[in-house]
Order: sequence, then structure tokens, then C-alpha cells
Amino acid sequence: MIEEIEARRAIFTIYTGAVFHHQGLSYVVTDLRIEERIALVERRDNVTYWTRQRDYTDVEVVSKTESKALGIDQVHYGSAGVRSVVFGYHKLVPRTRRIIETVELALPAAEYTSTAFWVDVPLWIYRVLAAKDIVPESALHGLSHLVCSLVPLFVRCKGSDMGTECRSKLAVRERPFRVVAFERHGYNTGLSVKAYDQATALFRRALEVLESCACQDGCPSCIVSTSCSENNEMLDKRGARLMARCLLGHLDEASAAAEPEETEEPHRGRAAAEQEEQVDRDEPPLHRETVISDSDFDEINMFF
Ligand SMILES: [Zn+2]
Ligand SMILES: [Zn+2]
Repeated sequence: MIEEIEARRAIFTIYTGAVFHHQGLSYVVTDLRIEERIALVERRDNVTYWTRQRDYTDVEVVSKTESKALGIDQVHYGSAGVRSVVFGYHKLVPRTRRIIETVELALPAAEYTSTAFWVDVPLWIYRVLAAKDIVPESALHGLSHLVCSLVPLFVRCKGSDMGTECRSKLAVRERPFRVVAFERHGYNTGLSVKAYDQATALFRRALEVLESCACQDGCPSCIVSTSCSENNEMLDKRGARLMARCLLGHLDEASAAAEPEETEEPHRGRAAAEQEEQVDRDEPPLHRETVISDSDFDEINMFF
């Protein structure tokens, strides 16, 4: 055995065909045995590509524990079902990240119960965004990224501890129009309820970042997330800002609809940039044990 990996991480990195790097050596997963929680790997010294999974995660509200006012509506926290599906992978040129092959997989979904906080976005905000030629899902995606990334400003945690639903142009699943942040660790660590307690300040901070970040269309200091499963392809900063203003009650339907196009160049949001750096620094602190093997064929254990 060369390594043990936490199952919730393993589903995104260990699949048949995945290139797995361990202590400077490259392995290709040749057989994923989910029932046995083992992946067989083969040492490959000449592998010339990387692999990146294609996946999506849906978050379903299971039950509300508590609700309170937030701007025009309410914020809630409670139990949420998280369902992640890896449906294939890309083979990439390491330097350029150019896709050289796309492979489809049929793997069972990984499901677990977690805790989340969320805001259901009223339909009128969807309508206002659409009327301005903003893709509402792109605005929602951007604001959701930003809200997740700002949680560590209010609660002692890493940015990677909270996750959200990521939107894709190709997705055909109907999803609720909801800003949601769930605990990636899959159990109640208290992060969601603490973030919920600070939700008004959290959403106000999100709006401040959107209004002050100097970028044009989104950057890692505001709505771009290093952990986006959809490669940040569907984001709209202007829409995220308008959505935040509406949710906080700064604009009603009529005034939002009459809102002119942005003309001023905003300033850079330093706090968000610092936060993003912290996310990068703290990225992979996962529990693992490693055992070296000198065999060309080996295995990886997945533990739960
Ligand atoms: Zn930005
Ligand atoms: Zn995303």
C-alpha cells in the first residue's frame, strides 16, 4: 500500500485512469474497487499528462434548524444532503493545461449529510438580472464563491472547509436559486451555525468586496475560487454585486431594474486578496498515512 486517503477526497482524485503522484513518482489507477475501498495502481515513469476530474456537487436542504432575517428575506441553517458525482476526467498537458482527451466514467455518487447555511434568492432578483442580460446562475455562482471564501473572516476555519454548488453551462439539472455554503467535512463542526450567526456581516462584507475589487470580471480576490469544480467558467461579478445589493435590501425590484450600468473603476479589495492567499496556503491538511512500496503495482486505501 502506498497511501491512505480520506474517502471524501478520494472520490475526486482516485478513479480508473487517474494519474496519481506520490513522492515524486507517477502512478495510474488501473482498477477502482469501491466495495473493497481499494484502488490498484501501476507505476508509470513515462506518463506525459495530468488528469483532472469532471464532477458536480448538489446540496439539498434536508431540514431547517433555525432562520432569521437577512436584508429583504431570511438566512437559514440546518441539515443538508451533499451528493457528489465524478462523471469523467480530462487528460491535460502539464504545462499548458491544454485538454488532450476527455474520458467519461460511470461512477456511483458519493453522498453524505452535512450542515449548511443558505439564502433562497427571490424570483424577482432572477428576473431583474435576466432583464439586464446577466445570466442569473453566473451571478449566483460568483456570490456563492465569495460568501464561502469570506467565512474564515468571521469563523475560525480555512476557506476550503466550506463548499458551495458550482454552476456549469452544460448542466441540465434543475437547481434551486439559492446561495448555499456547506461544511465539506460532512459533519457538524459548528462552522455553519457560527457563519449563520454572522450572516448579515458576512453578506455586507461580500458586497464591500464586490464594490471595491479593482478587477473587471472577477478575480481570486473576489468571485474566482481555486476550488471551483467548473473552472470558474460561469461567473458574473456585476450580477453578483447586484444580487448582494438586492438581498441586503439596498435595492428593491423597481430600483434594481432602473439601476444604470456601472461606469466607475472600483478599488482593489485587499482583505479578500489576503483571504484567498490563506486559502491557498492552507489547502491540503487532510489526514493521511503513507507507506512506501518498491513494487510497480500497488494499491491505495480509502478510509471513511
Ligand atoms: Zn476581483
Ligand atoms: Zn464554482
